[in-house]
Amino acid sequence: MSAQSELAELGHRFLYPNYRQAPVVIARGEGAVLWDAEGKRYIDMLAGIAVSALGHAHPKLVAAIADQAARVMQVSNYYYNEPNVRLAQKLTAVTGMDRAFFCNSGTEAVEASLKLARRHFHTRGQPERLKVLAYTNSFHGRTLGALAATGQDKYKEGFGPLTGALHVPFGDLAATRRALGPEVAAVIFEPVQGEGGVVPAPPGFLSGLRAATAETGTLLIADEIQTGVGRTGAFLACQAEGIQPDIVVLAKGLAGGVPIGALLCKQELASALPPGSHGSTFGGNALASRAALTVLETLESEGLIARVRELGELLEAGLARLATEHPRKIETVRGTGLLQAAVLRDGIDPRGVLAALQARGLLLSVAGARALRFSPPLVVKPAELEEALGILDATLTELT
Ligand SMILES: *Cc1c(COP(=O)(O)O)cnc(C)c1O
Repeated sequence: MSAQSELAELGHRFLYPNYRQAPVVIARGEGAVLWDAEGKRYIDMLAGIAVSALGHAHPKLVAAIADQAARVMQVSNYYYNEPNVRLAQKLTAVTGMDRAFFCNSGTEAVEASLKLARRHFHTRGQPERLKVLAYTNSFHGRTLGALAATGQDKYKEGFGPLTGALHVPFGDLAATRRALGPEVAAVIFEPVQGEGGVVPAPPGFLSGLRAATAETGTLLIADEIQTGVGRTGAFLACQAEGIQPDIVVLAKGLAGGVPIGALLCKQELASALPPGSHGSTFGGNALASRAALTVLETLESEGLIARVRELGELLEAGLARLATEHPRKIETVRGTGLLQAAVLRDGIDPRGVLAALQARGLLLSVAGARALRFSPPLVVKPAELEEALGILDATLTELT
């Protein structure tokens, strides 16, 4: 029995079985390449689910984390720490927002945004404004509030009752306007629905949504947990659409693999959560903040966001070519920047395809029912994208 199969067996036996984990133990990585415990090499088009923005073992991130760990990792929010203050300054500058709150995951950032919205209207003497309007097929996280906002039944089954959220079809501006009643505190949306299958908002939807919520005084929350931090070719996907939400939530790629979540908001919302009303023990810790600060600095110093646009076009064109070559297997290709998907035709087992890709040394994930999602590190090389496309081509050719 190999060390890998032995470990996989222990994992199978002792870990809580809420995931379908492949019997592969990832041991190390470099850039967009991973190796398992037996030395098998994989091209990583998953990046820890759009998390490893700088790829694996980026020297600047490794050095910053080691340096910070040797200084101080956690001081509590009774005091400031320098990386956290500098991160707040930098994040507000690059997003045009005014204030930053930090937590440890995407779900927590969404939860904070929902609490902030309720409390904002409570303080303003409008306690009836407590609902969140969200979209069908959305994903906002797994705590009870974020789960209520999530628009996919498969995540909610057995956890009800989940209250406080209304849902209308994604991209439907007329339905949104009809649903913006006096009980709605906020609208939450993803510029591109990630977990729902990489579904971009229709053209003009975001600007229409901004206008509609401005008219009713409803807060607009952009869930950029998956699309933010350069993933779609702008720091925020909303910036490419020219809209300014009231609240933006970030997580996934923000600290390059170290757990973090962030809520950014305008100054008008700065008094909604006064001292004592909300908080986090680990939120804003020096280690995660230093990692995030390093990610932001490296995005700039290495010009990575402009690169995302070029590489995104390369990836999209490559996937479109495969769709033409395999019309009975790929239904469509969609996405923005380095968040792209090849949607398999109904009747093709996505898990079978995933396993075949993995055997040939390509890691990616299925989003929605049938979308093969590409969310590579932003530092991925063109040759690595070509290699991944070649593996997908060979796998689809073999597929009967
Ligand atoms: C991943 C994700 C979340 C949840 O983030 P976690 O860090 O898993 O809690 C929420 N919203 C969107 C859009 C996501 O992609």
